[in-house]
Amino acid sequence: MTAETVSTTRGPAAPGTRKRILTGDRPTAKSFHLGNYYGTLANRVRLQDEYESFFLIADYHMLTTRIQDLEEIGANIRELVIDYLSVGIDPVKTTIYLQSLIPEVTELFLYFSMLVTVPRAQRIPTLKEAMRDHGLSAPTYGLLGYPILQAADILMVKGDVVPVGRDQESHIELTREIARRFNELFGPVFPEPQALIPEGGMLPGTDGAGKMGKSLGNAIFLTDDTQAVTTKVMGMYTDPTRVRATDPGNVEGNPVFALHDVFNPDTADVDDMKDRYRSGRIGDVEVKRKLVVAIEAFLVPIRERRARYAAEPERIDEIIRAGSERARDEARRTLHEVRAAMHLDYFGL
Ligand code: ATP
Ligand code: MG
Repeated sequence: MTAETVSTTRGPAAPGTRKRILTGDRPTAKSFHLGNYYGTLANRVRLQDEYESFFLIADYHMLTTRIQDLEEIGANIRELVIDYLSVGIDPVKTTIYLQSLIPEVTELFLYFSMLVTVPRAQRIPTLKEAMRDHGLSAPTYGLLGYPILQAADILMVKGDVVPVGRDQESHIELTREIARRFNELFGPVFPEPQALIPEGGMLPGTDGAGKMGKSLGNAIFLTDDTQAVTTKVMGMYTDPTRVRATDPGNVEGNPVFALHDVFNPDTADVDDMKDRYRSGRIGDVEVKRKLVVAIEAFLVPIRERRARYAAEPERIDEIIRAGSERARDEARRTLHEVRAAMHLDYFGL
């Protein structure tokens, strides 16, 4: 690397420069679900003009909970990029890239893993959740390191803002600790990124058991057709204590209303349904039918754009290739700076 490229290296965000966003998604399924949209995609679309945006397809992260049946992942990756484009992410304004095409991130991960104790990594709440969701009695070394790898993703491109769901908050906190620790030890290389989390928390799944999740069998996907949306919504968990439509029902903790709150733009009608639900003057079927209408109105334009992009697979591959090249340039610059700060650039090599 030449001295000239080094001089263009971006330190912690200087006043007046455009701040950066980094977010990622694991290619564990073919498509995003409404929870991913609400938790992160909506914020990314909203902020892509204001921030310089990096969107990572985190295939290394996927390996922490899935090490088999990997032959379909290539197809998942393309479909996720099509989802990005169909919800309105613009590949000209943003950098969409594949984690495993940026080997530098594993080097940064190694350095960062020297800055985090094992008990600190074990205290991250998502570790227990991942173990429970995947039926593991002990985490692998890789799963324990997941949040440290995520810190490397974020800091590799010097992300300032990370739009994520609430489940990721503890990871961003760890990222901030790592940035602080590194800067204390070696000099000011990294910004301390901020999480950007929607106020409503996590969108619940159709089963009412917890958050909507790609690998949890309780998700409504952006790729679902009208039939699938209808079947999933009409079968949704509601208030289990309510037997008849004339029984007073619970709106709080009821996933049907949680989805209305996010996806039904007619707030007056949602408020009216809540009143009637609480006083036993509306049945679950009517509330669900209206939810189908609201979700369909949201999905129809996404489906139309999706069909257009799906017809151009070469364009999708080109977006991933160009984005990964650009992200790798950033990675090389950051690593150069990191090695210099750590005095690992022995003999100028
Ligand atoms: P997996 O089940 O494989 O973990 P996931 O559905 O949790 O998949 P991720 O790829 O882990 O999705 O997360 C992508 C982004 O979506 C993250 O920013 C995460 O916080 C957000 N997210 C995931 N599920 C929800 C949800 N139910 N509500 C809000 N945000 C969510
Ligand atoms: Mg997840």
